[in-house]
Amino acid sequence: MSSTVNLGSIFGIQFRLHFSWFVIFTLVTVFLSWQVFPPALLEQSQLVYWTMGAVTSLLFFASVVTHELAHGLVGRANGITIKSITLFIFGGAAHMTREPSKAAQELRMAVAGPISSLVMAGLFWMVWNTFSSTGPQLALMALWLAQINLVLAVFNLFPGFPLDGGRVLRALVWHFSGSYKKATRVATQAGRVVGYLFVLGGATIIILYQEWLSGVWLGLIGLFLESTARASYKQAMLQQVLQGMTAGEVMLSDCRRVSAETTVSQLAMEYGDSGEECFIVAGEGRAEGIIALHNIVSVAKSEKGATRLGEIARPLEKLSIAKPGDDVLGIVQHMNEAGHDEVAVMSQDGLVGLITLESLIKLVNRHPDFNS
Ligand SMILES: [Zn+2]
Repeated sequence: MSSTVNLGSIFGIQFRLHFSWFVIFTLVTVFLSWQVFPPALLEQSQLVYWTMGAVTSLLFFASVVTHELAHGLVGRANGITIKSITLFIFGGAAHMTREPSKAAQELRMAVAGPISSLVMAGLFWMVWNTFSSTGPQLALMALWLAQINLVLAVFNLFPGFPLDGGRVLRALVWHFSGSYKKATRVATQAGRVVGYLFVLGGATIIILYQEWLSGVWLGLIGLFLESTARASYKQAMLQQVLQGMTAGEVMLSDCRRVSAETTVSQLAMEYGDSGEECFIVAGEGRAEGIIALHNIVSVAKSEKGATRLGEIARPLEKLSIAKPGDDVLGIVQHMNEAGHDEVAVMSQDGLVGLITLESLIKLVNRHPDFNS
């Protein structure tokens, strides 16, 4: 992801800031410095309000990082590697290399975040308590941080995937039914319901209290949750179906060889209806590049007559390479990380096939498990 800034790593976990984080950081700082602190603590200079706002905002995001770090460390203690944590406009997202393989692992990792938020709420509450008479600025900041950490803990415990509460729900259904698939379906459907409820809640806040900012914000989080829940189900099913399969088993192996001089419209005329999903573009006898179906479709209609396959083919040396025996899930993960839509499969004899994201999704969609 190029839209993120690397912050370095804590305990071997990479921390990143997505550019959208700067928007939310600014909003929170402005909100605190204008709306929250001045009415609660009168007769301070603007400099004091803004300093309090910025410092509190930073500590708030440090709290979010601590919450995610708690997931990461407990996950790691349970055999799940968390590679990176990204802060973005809706909070923090941990990037796991794989989903938990046991219900107990999932449960422990899920509750670690809200527990850490509760602990932080308690710590900030103690700071507020200690300084309430001697340091009113510090006390006020601590009070807000205690409240927001409490909100964070409660919010994350709503029982809809991908929220922590949704992971708890999945772990419980998984434990009692023994079915990961059923548990994922229940938890992600609950996630969509929670998402819609948040949208409804946001609308209610706007209608009843005219609180536009909070209402729109809650609504946006609801929409984000709903779409993430839907995508998570697809992702989980993709994993489920591809588990244990090798590159050789899923690759498109019958890619037809075509000349680099052929134009896109010639290719469409000859093979347009044949259902072929990949082509190997050959120069002088040897394979030079690869074209998947989606590359051809994306060429504008008016350009099809003049565009030669040699121009749009992805050269072999620019493609990620896998071996026929490689684990497909590992390859999917690599494609996700690198942002690649295709991987070339090479044996000692050279190019033997192509794996495209499109073909994997088709494979999963055809699978009986996916439609039941
Ligand atoms: Zn969490």
